[in-house]
Amino acid sequence: MIFNVDEVRKDFPALFQEVYGHPLAYLDNAATTLKPSAVIQAISGYYSTINSNVHRGVHYLSGEATAAFENARENVRRFINAEHGHEVIFTKGATEAINLVAQSFSATNLGRGDEIVVSGLEHHANLVPWQNACRSAGATLKIIPFDEKGEISAEQAGAFLSGKTKLLALTHVSNSLGTLLPVKEIIQVAHRMGIPVLVDGAQGIVHCEVDVRALDCDFYCFSGHKIYGPMGIGILYGKERWLEAMEPYQTGGEMIKSVSYQHATYNDLPYKFEAGTPNVAGAVGLNAALEYMEGLGKENIHNYEKYLLAYTLKALENLPAIRIYGHPGHGAAVISFLMEGIHPYDAGSVIDRFGIAVRTGHHCAQPVMDRLGIPGTIRASLAFYNTTEEIDRLTAALLKVQEMFA
Ligand code: PMP
Repeated sequence: MIFNVDEVRKDFPALFQEVYGHPLAYLDNAATTLKPSAVIQAISGYYSTINSNVHRGVHYLSGEATAAFENARENVRRFINAEHGHEVIFTKGATEAINLVAQSFSATNLGRGDEIVVSGLEHHANLVPWQNACRSAGATLKIIPFDEKGEISAEQAGAFLSGKTKLLALTHVSNSLGTLLPVKEIIQVAHRMGIPVLVDGAQGIVHCEVDVRALDCDFYCFSGHKIYGPMGIGILYGKERWLEAMEPYQTGGEMIKSVSYQHATYNDLPYKFEAGTPNVAGAVGLNAALEYMEGLGKENIHNYEKYLLAYTLKALENLPAIRIYGHPGHGAAVISFLMEGIHPYDAGSVIDRFGIAVRTGHHCAQPVMDRLGIPGTIRASLAFYNTTEEIDRLTAALLKVQEMFA
């Protein structure tokens, strides 16, 4: 393997700390990832030098900040292979991106009797905005159930689409079970019926090669902080024709062409959807994160993560009285499990004392847990800076938990 994890770890200062006297093992990457020094330095560099508001000033710093901001947009475009830079909208995260589409798209496209379809695996961020949009429009929200392995086929998805469906919204990778959905096939099925598709890529962008043109998705969104970038910045990609036809999500400065006391005309894309001062430092930091990933090589990263996932699954499967949810062999490096008779919160609290960060609970996907009939799971989510030694420490801690609660 070309990937030298020990060298890579040196890029992440947060890894070199102790928690309760143990070296930190950070296995909560689906919640947020650690940041490489390149990202921290890019943010600090922005505030230490070219800090300025964008698109407004004639002065030197404003020009530099605008160039850095637009350079970040261009690099995001390239990273996801969008056709135009103006199809890339900066938001504060995946949640805001989905709310933008749920409100703006629905304002003109969703009416009484229409339907929005989402998958049964969605994070609350790709569910609650559609509940609200449907309530406002008098439309119905339909849910595509997942099977016992946590999967949804294109055929199953297609069965929930009809002439009434105005949009299909689904996750690329489930944050609670790690399932990788066959989004490309599902999009093909939806498009045959003329239905646009939004893909929630909050987890997908981290673990998959994303090419929005090859996927042919109509919208794709993600958060910077889950892909080694800063918090408070995210991306909405939308096909030009949809974005052109949509009303702005928020109004104010930056998003206008001209304003009188009674009226305003809106700016062109992408600015129409970027009201107010944007998170320039966030965009600069995200740019550094994407460059960092490309420097390591996305394929190297994904191959290492697959190796680590296989190692983790084998280690967990060898433990007694453990149940793994979903079908993680087919998914991304996110593993949800429970230990017989032990509440996930109790297990998580003990594991924490060994310096190991895992997440316990419903993972902002309460309906998924309800459908599985469980209160929540223990979730270990891996990144390319994790090691097999950390997985061994996790399995040792789990054995300890079983001993304590036996
Ligand atoms: N969708 C998925 C699949 C997620 O995992 C998350 C974050 N856990 C979100 C949406 C929301 O992301 P954010 O909180 O960064 O807006």
